[in-house]
Amino acid sequence: MRLGKLLSPRKQLCNNCGEKFHEYSDLVAHVKSKRHGPVSRCQTCGKEFVRESDRYRHIQEEKSRKLDSRRHR
Ligand SMILES: [Zn+2]
Ligand SMILES: [Zn+2]
Repeated sequence: MRLGKLLSPRKQLCNNCGEKFHEYSDLVAHVKSKRHGPVSRCQTCGKEFVRESDRYRHIQEEKSRKLDSRRHR
């Protein structure tokens, strides 16, 4: 079974100025450098997110991935 991509493969759009980025990490770097807003961080791996909903989804995927790898062992 393949898990979906971590984040949407569509272009990442800055909510503040409408600029588009290929990589989510580029959007995060942009938001930080332009001081558009706060960046939230995953407590587990330190990955940064510009939206709380993105972080929430990432944490859910990390949880399910852990369960999945345990099942296959
Ligand atoms: Zn922007
Ligand atoms: Zn994480």
